[in-house]
Amino acid sequence: MLYDHILIRYGELSLKGKNRKIFIYQLHENVRTKLKQYPTIKIHHARDRMTIMLNGQEPDPIIDACRSIFGIQSLSLAIKVENDQEKIKEAALAALKDNKSGTTFKITTRRADKTFPIGSQEFNHVVGSHLLRNTENYTVDVHYPDVELHIDIRTQATYITSKRIKGAGGLPVGSAGKTALLLSGGIDSPVAGYLMMRRGVKLEAVHFHSPPYTSEAAKQKVIDLAKQLTYYGNHIKVHVVPFTALQQKIHQKIPHGYSMTVMRRMMLKVSEKIAEKENILSLTTGESLGQVASQTMQSMHAINEVTAYPVLRPLVSMDKDEIIRISKDIDTYHISIRPHEDCCTVFVPKAPKTKPKLDKVKYFENLIDVEEDIEEIMNNIETIMLTQDSDPDDFDTLF
Ligand code: ATP
Ligand code: MG
Repeated sequence: MLYDHILIRYGELSLKGKNRKIFIYQLHENVRTKLKQYPTIKIHHARDRMTIMLNGQEPDPIIDACRSIFGIQSLSLAIKVENDQEKIKEAALAALKDNKSGTTFKITTRRADKTFPIGSQEFNHVVGSHLLRNTENYTVDVHYPDVELHIDIRTQATYITSKRIKGAGGLPVGSAGKTALLLSGGIDSPVAGYLMMRRGVKLEAVHFHSPPYTSEAAKQKVIDLAKQLTYYGNHIKVHVVPFTALQQKIHQKIPHGYSMTVMRRMMLKVSEKIAEKENILSLTTGESLGQVASQTMQSMHAINEVTAYPVLRPLVSMDKDEIIRISKDIDTYHISIRPHEDCCTVFVPKAPKTKPKLDKVKYFENLIDVEEDIEEIMNNIETIMLTQDSDPDDFDTLF
C-alpha cells in the first residue's frame, strides 16, 4: 500500500490561542474513540495537525469515519519518508502516478526542518524536474494544477500528500461545554442537537414522555434519534421525564388558550433542574420562528421567562426545507417521520394563544401548585446512556 498515514488538519482550532491545547486533546480523544475498532493504528497530535499511522489498515473506512468528526477541516492520505532527497523524490513520483486526476501538477514544499539542505522553492524545482523526467504525459501548471503535491518537511520526517478531503468543520464535541437538548420525536430538535455538536457542544437529551397517552414506540423513536446523534457525539445521556401527571393537571386547570404556554414553561423548568444536576449551563430547543403557535416572538418571550438559563435555538432563522435537508443528511429524517404521537400533540388545545401575555401566564400558573409535581418528576426520571456502539433496542438504564 502506497499511503501509510492519514493527515488531519484542524482548521478553526488554530485560531484558539491559549485554549488550543484543550481543543487538540479533545479532538484526539474523539478521533481515538471513533476509531477504537482499529486497535493497530497510532494517532499522534502536534500543534498544527494530527497524523494517523495506518499500520496496514485500509484507509477508506477510517477516512469515512473521520469525516463525521467535528474539528477536522480536511484530511489527506500521506506517505511518510525520511528527510532524504532521494526518498522524497521517489515517494512524490509514486503519489503523482497514483493520483490519476489529470495531466498537470504543481509541487508545494514546506520546510519546517531548517536543517534540510535545500530551500523550499529550489526543492519544488528539484522534485518537479524528477517527476517530468520520469513521467510521459505530465506538465507543470502553477496556477490551476490538476494535482497539487504537498511536501511537508518536518524535523522528524517528511509527509507527501496529494488529495484533500473535506472534513466536517466546526469544533471538537466536548470542547465547548454541554447543553440539555429538549428532544422530541420531531424533525427539528435532532437537527438542533446536531448543530450544537458542530460548535463543540456535548449533548444530554431530555425527553418528555406521557404514558399512556404516548406509547413505548414514541419513546423508542426518541432513543433511536439520540442513538443516531451519537454518530457525531459519541455518547449521549437521554433523560426520559414522566410528564403525564403534570400535563393532566395543566390540561384540567389552565384555560386552554394558555395551557400550551404553561406546558412549555414546565418543560423548560424541569430541563433546567436536570441541567443544574448534570452541570450543564444551557438548554437547546428545535424552535424556529413562526413555525407554530408556540414559536412566535410573544410565545418565546412568555415561555423563556421561566428560566435564567440561556435557551439556545440554532434553528431560529431557518426555513423548514433547510431543516429537512439537514435531517436527511444526518440520517435522522427517516426516524423523525415515523408516525408516533408526541406529548405536546396529545394535549394540544384547539386554539392556543399565539400572543400570550406574560402577566396572564403567570397568573394562571400561580393557580396550580407545581412544586410537588416537579419533585415527583425529578425522582422518577429514567436515564439511559447511549454510545455509538450501543444497540438502541437494548439500552441500559442508569437510574
Ligand atoms: P420538533 O420537530 O423538534 O418536534 P416542532 O416543530 O414539532 O419541533 P414543537 O412540537 O412546537 O415544534 O416543539 C418545539 C420544541 O420543543 C422542540 O423542537 C423540542 O426542542 C421541544 N419539545 C417538544 N416536545 C418535546 C418533548 N416531548 N420532549 C422534549 N422536548 C420537546
Ligand atoms: Mg414536535
